[in-house]
Order: sequence, then structure tokens, then C-alpha cells
Amino acid sequence: MISETTRKPLACWGGKERYAGNPVECLTIILESGGCSWARCRMCSYRHERYKTASCDELAAHLHAQLAWVKNEYDLTKYAMVKLFTSGSFFDPTEVPPAFRDEVARTFRGKIVIAESRPEYITAENLEGFVAALDDGTYKTPLYCAAGLETTSDTIREKCINKGFSFTDFRDAAARARQAGAGMKAYLLFKPLFLTEAEAIADMKSSFTGISGLADMVSMNPCTVQRRTELELYWKQGAYRPPYLWSVLTLLKDAPFHMTCDPLGGGQMRGPHNCGTCDYEITKGIRDYSLSADRDLIGALLDMDCPCKNEWEYVLENERPYCMPLTR
Ligand code: SF4
Ligand SMILES: [Zn+2]
Repeated sequence: MISETTRKPLACWGGKERYAGNPVECLTIILESGGCSWARCRMCSYRHERYKTASCDELAAHLHAQLAWVKNEYDLTKYAMVKLFTSGSFFDPTEVPPAFRDEVARTFRGKIVIAESRPEYITAENLEGFVAALDDGTYKTPLYCAAGLETTSDTIREKCINKGFSFTDFRDAAARARQAGAGMKAYLLFKPLFLTEAEAIADMKSSFTGISGLADMVSMNPCTVQRRTELELYWKQGAYRPPYLWSVLTLLKDAPFHMTCDPLGGGQMRGPHNCGTCDYEITKGIRDYSLSADRDLIGALLDMDCPCKNEWEYVLENERPYCMPLTR
């Protein structure tokens, strides 16, 4: 029999996050769950991560063992915030059995929990008990539901990402979350497939405007090329380039509110990158900005000189979109 504590989560680490204007200690946990019910997004490889069992009890035991490992390895009293990811939706009852959800709420009672979920699972039924069990009066909003809205454009979300829900679905989920006493976090995806660099920047700018007032927290993810994805196929053919870090800086500098941004794979061919020379400093600066909200730092990085800046400006000016036939 496998010992409880040998079943680790897919990943778990401690770090800092910005909350209400201050840095707080945050524990991030990625649990291996039953897997994403949608599993069709063009850029996503998390959907391959799933614990294969037909039994709800086995799945609950598997999740319970991962949480036991976390409790064993980390001093939970050190963390004010916990970010929970699964390979899909934390509030999908077939992916994360409700009994396990209750255990999570008991374990992290008195902390701020941010849990990722598709909008359709952000319902009064799934949230109310969870919020009540988490809430010990320490925080006004003990739970934030985090949804990968990616963009406020339904066309881009449908054609370039294949996300399977609309902006209206997100808005409705946000209303249900608030009704249940939870807040809302939105993830935006900068530069999905099929967009030029300039189109992707324009998409993020209009998404910032559209999301204002709807989400309490926003995180922008510059797209990375994950393995075994449709995006990777295009990238291998030279039909996709991850965004320039210069573009990320431009967006952060002019954004109407502070957002976090972690350029995963920054400076690598599969991640957001410039030329290789200036990438390290910019990537580090973007991470520092996420915590400090210091716009001057972003401005200073954007003023830096590097020969690749001309290349980026040329791309913005001259890259042309794909042309698809409108009829068959
Ligand atoms: S991005 Fe989210 S919804 Fe889309 S396939 Fe991946 S886990 Fe599922
Ligand atoms: Zn450079």
C-alpha cells in the first residue's frame, strides 16, 4: 500500500503575493485531480494531468493524501494566503469530490484562498458551504474564485483559444461568486495563437478596460508554448512566436490598474522572450513589479536600450495577420 505522505501534489511552493497593497506569504499548491472536464484549449497541457480512476472514493483518497503531504511538509501557520490549482476546476464536483473540498476549507480556515475554476462550476451550491467553512472573520473576503477568462473578446477566446465559455458566462459567475461572499480573480492570456504581436497588445488593452470593476484581482499570463498542445504544433512550424517582453512591459506600464504577471519561461524560446541579452533583467523586473506595484521600475526597464528593441518595433509595425477564407 502506498503511504499517505508519498503522494505529493503535482507541485507545491511557498512565496509572496501582493494582497490589499501589501506582500503576504502565499502557499501555492497544484493538486492532481480528476482532470479538466473541458480539456480542449489550444495552449494547455495541464489537461493531460489527471488521476485515472473511475471511483470517486479513490479520487478523494488520492486528493486527501496530497493534502496530508502538504500539512506534513509545510508549516501552514506561516501562510496568510493559499493558491489552489488543479489540472482543471477546483469547484467541479466530478474533478474534486465535495467531501475533499470541505476538508480543504477546514484545513485553510482563516486564510485567503484563491481557487481556480471554470465559470460553470462557480455556483451558490459549490461555494456557500466552502466560504462558510473558510471564514473565521479574519478577512472580509476569504475566497477568490480564479477563472481563466483569457480575454474579454468572445471571438478571440473562441477562435484562438477554444475556451468554451463566453464573457457573459464569466460575468454571471462573478455575480454568483459575490452573492456567495467570494471575490473574483481573472487570468488574462497575452498573445494566444493566430494573433500578431500588435493585435495581441490591442486585445489585452481592451480586456483591461472590459474587466475593470468585474474582477478584484487580475493576473496577465504571457503565453508559453507547453508540450503536447496544438500551440506547440504551430510553434514548431514557425507559425507562432511567444510575445516579446517589451510588449509585456508596455502593457504593464499603461494598465489602468495593478496586475500581477509571472512571465513563465521568460527569456526562453518557448516563453515570452526578447533577444537573450536583455531578458533576464526584464523578467526579474516584471516579477518584482508584481509584488511592489512600482510603475517607475517598469518605466525604467522600458527605457533600457537593446538592439532587439528595433526588431520589436519593426514587428509591431509590419507583422500582418493570418488570412482565413470567410466561406468554403
Ligand atoms: S486551460 Fe483550463 S479549461 Fe482549458 S483545457 Fe486547460 S485546464 Fe481545461
Ligand atoms: Zn534585447
